[in-house]
Amino acid sequence: MTNNVPITVARGDGIGPEIMDATLRILEAAGAHIEPEFIDVGEKVYLDGNTTGVSTQAWQSIKRTKVLLKAPITTPQGGGFKSVNVTMRKTLGLYANVRPCRAYHPFVFSHFPDMDVVIVRENEEGLYAGIEHKQTANSCQTLKLFTHQGCERIIRYAFEYAKKFNRRKITCMSKDNIMKMTDGMFHKIFKQVAEEYPGFHTEHLIVDIGSALLATRPERFDVVVTPNLYGDIISDVTAQITGSVGLAGSANIGRTTAMFEAIHGSAPDIAGKNIANPSGLLNGAVQLLIHIDQSDVAAKVENAWLKTIEDGMHTADIFSEQRSIRKLSTKEFADAVIERLGEKPTQFHAVSFQSGVDTTFKSIHDKVATLTTKKEIVGADIFIDALTDDVNALCSKLSELNGPLKLIAVTNRGLKVWPNHSEAAEFFLSDHWCCRFQATDDFAPTTQEKVLEQITLMYQAAFDVIKIENLYTFDGERGFSLAQGQ
Ligand code: NAD
Repeated sequence: MTNNVPITVARGDGIGPEIMDATLRILEAAGAHIEPEFIDVGEKVYLDGNTTGVSTQAWQSIKRTKVLLKAPITTPQGGGFKSVNVTMRKTLGLYANVRPCRAYHPFVFSHFPDMDVVIVRENEEGLYAGIEHKQTANSCQTLKLFTHQGCERIIRYAFEYAKKFNRRKITCMSKDNIMKMTDGMFHKIFKQVAEEYPGFHTEHLIVDIGSALLATRPERFDVVVTPNLYGDIISDVTAQITGSVGLAGSANIGRTTAMFEAIHGSAPDIAGKNIANPSGLLNGAVQLLIHIDQSDVAAKVENAWLKTIEDGMHTADIFSEQRSIRKLSTKEFADAVIERLGEKPTQFHAVSFQSGVDTTFKSIHDKVATLTTKKEIVGADIFIDALTDDVNALCSKLSELNGPLKLIAVTNRGLKVWPNHSEAAEFFLSDHWCCRFQATDDFAPTTQEKVLEQITLMYQAAFDVIKIENLYTFDGERGFSLAQGQ
């Protein structure tokens, strides 16, 4: 007899409790060997004064079980409340967000009957690191932080996922034509890792044309791996064009812990009406069952669910006079799936999942490299807040500082405005200036002390220094971008 596996369950807000009850009923009827531990996260916890939305008891349970099935959570607007989803992903190190999006044509209308795409989104880094500053009266910045380990981990995950689930093609999407350091690193690592997986067809697309193709020819894609923000956007678009956001489940995978959910939100507009579609959460739960090595039960649930869909038993969100037989409530839909447990779909392909404890994903961490290189400081970008239109006067004052470093270029919003900016240029000057100082024009090494001396001189000359970015070379290679026009 298989022992029951303890899993943490959050019933969530809005439609959360209804779809969770439906999902758990189906899992129980299918014979899933699970022992749910219920926790409170979300609205109730926020209203009790905990701005993270996650109680200590909830963390303890997740830490113990390492598996969480979570219904959607309402994030209250304003008031300093942190999104539970982002907090969970980051605190638990859930670096991979996996969203399978397929069409269920002809039973659920989609313009793309053959689409079957899995989006693998980096879940912790990039623009979601949440490092933001307002620096001048007119400017703010978000730090887009990529690490070598973060990129390598998600890319390896995508290849391992493709291997495990018999997918053949992996598309990397980035914007490395513009962001050569961050997205450039993502693309470069993709190419390197791809060499270790010769059996796969791989390609790289710039994310703008990539997402346009995904929205118009999704059937040409199989697995897509992409950084955080792009993944967030394209996975919603991809889920939507399958026919309904109510169908797709999502897995958030970390080194030790994993969280499974629906991709949609708490749908407060239909909460308590017993009309929500539990399929998204159920599909998340199927991924959970595979994760805890109950692949047979996962396949049993998924096949019964596919049969329910092809039998035209539909909740209101996917109901149509032409394609559906009956419009069901949330509870009736769960009953319909339960009635079909043990049956296989006849129109869709029946699914089966590999069994066995999954060590492939765990081994990813051992393969991820931490780089060490020879790092030398060659100067600094010293950012100042200055409200002026007189570039020449500003730059003369900067050049006359007579410090240990030489003024190489001044840029405003990334555009070089000194020396020799184009006479034809028509742009507005913001109060946010970047003054690039180097030891020499050709990246000769300098020292931290010289950078500090230069900054001190600037303060003494009443420049409002708002930030410093040191300029480094790594093994002799420039580690910073050149300004537009430099
Ligand atoms: P939403 O996904 O909750 O709802 C969008 C639309 O889709 C609504 O019309 C809703 O009725 C419908 N819908 C969603 N799920 C459905 C289902 N299962 N069955 C039938 N119809 C469904 O998005 P929203 O309205 O932007 O967000 C509502 C709340 O959910 C917000 O507080 C938001 O922060 C939160 N949210 C949570 C998560 C999560 O916990 N993972 C994800 C997204 C949004």
